[in-house]
Amino acid sequence: MVRWTSFLSHLECTACGLEHAADRLQTVCTQCGKVLFARYDLAGVRAATRPTDFATRRWDMWRYSELLPVQQPQHVVSLGEGLTPLVEVRGRDVGFERGQLLVKDEGQNPTASFKARGLSAAISRAKELGATDIALPSAGNAGSAAAAYAAAGGLRAHVAMPRDVPDLNRVETAIYGAELTLIDGLINDAGSFIRQQVQQHGWFDVSTLKEPYRQEGKKTMGIELAEQGGWGDSCLPDVIVYPTGGGTGIVGMWKAFSELEALGWIGPKRPKMVVVQAAGCAPIVRAYERGEQHAEPWPNAQTVAAGLRVPVAIGDYLILDAVRASGGTALAVSEEAIAAAQREMGNLAGIYAAPEAAATWAATCQLRQQGWLAGTEQVVLFCTGMGLKYAPPPLEEPSGQKEGAGGVWRSGGPHATSAQAV
Ligand SMILES: *Cc1c(COP(=O)(O)O)cnc(C)c1O
Repeated sequence: MVRWTSFLSHLECTACGLEHAADRLQTVCTQCGKVLFARYDLAGVRAATRPTDFATRRWDMWRYSELLPVQQPQHVVSLGEGLTPLVEVRGRDVGFERGQLLVKDEGQNPTASFKARGLSAAISRAKELGATDIALPSAGNAGSAAAAYAAAGGLRAHVAMPRDVPDLNRVETAIYGAELTLIDGLINDAGSFIRQQVQQHGWFDVSTLKEPYRQEGKKTMGIELAEQGGWGDSCLPDVIVYPTGGGTGIVGMWKAFSELEALGWIGPKRPKMVVVQAAGCAPIVRAYERGEQHAEPWPNAQTVAAGLRVPVAIGDYLILDAVRASGGTALAVSEEAIAAAQREMGNLAGIYAAPEAAATWAATCQLRQQGWLAGTEQVVLFCTGMGLKYAPPPLEEPSGQKEGAGGVWRSGGPHATSAQAV
């Protein structure tokens, strides 16, 4: 049997520092309402485990059990999440040295997005602590993943989504047997609905960063980068480009790097964390530019990248901390740039990325053109979801005539579309 030990010790508020017991269901800090972080007995982990031990373990993110919250392996609800490939892209056409532009292809996760990681962790731990019903608002992919993991674990899922989420997300929640409520509004409106329902019915709220374990699941993306890079001082990339909505992934990876450094498994060098948002909903970018610690809500949020249509993020201060402490940056890209990038990424990488993920490609090309990236550093883009889940862009017959025109699909290799993604 596989060895299994979790070194979870307690929960700690990221704002006021108050400690909470980890052995019962918790959402946010009971004192100040901010985000709770899971804390581990890292000295215990260090004494018990070497990083090379992981290589012989189970082939999903639960191989890192020491640094995950579930105490008993029978409570793990897994569909094979994590251990996604780092794909080397032909980046020379967009100004990167050979081997320096990589895509972490999270679209290969169960339910075709990285939401699988967070919800596998949250639902497993909720199940272990006795929850029977979980609820959450979702811009689309989190609802699909929650529904799938609840089904696999024998829990009931209650999901609220904006009425205009991609059709397939609705289909998925139905297939997985979740209760779905469509809301006329955005994810924060869906959130208010869920908050009220949760109180009424006693369900457990697994909204992002409002319970402590979704970020633990997403943390495994950071641990995986270290394992894929061979551990040690220079195992991490120089730059991580991340499409940011609620920020769970960026917060989770940043937390992972601190834990791994405390364990002595990586050195002090950190990737520069780059936040990418859509121009039609960029609260974190605006707060970054203004030097603020919290982001003001974004009015009339609009973008085809549903996962980035998050006007308010409870973990805004944690995202901004990670960007600033790492020497990273934050930028917004237009809808046109996202659409062009989706094609260029398909052409150059063979990956049909979700619009959120295509935004990282557009941003990376912009940063390269502006000289913020030199093309020599190693850059990892997070392809957080698969493009096939979204409404398809307009498709015209290949004509070969209209150079670079929006609706024309051609099969001519890397130069079939313009190399300028901006
Ligand atoms: C949810 C989502 C995001 C944003 O993720 P956060 O970690 O919450 O910022 C990005 N891309 C896709 C495809 C998503 O589903």
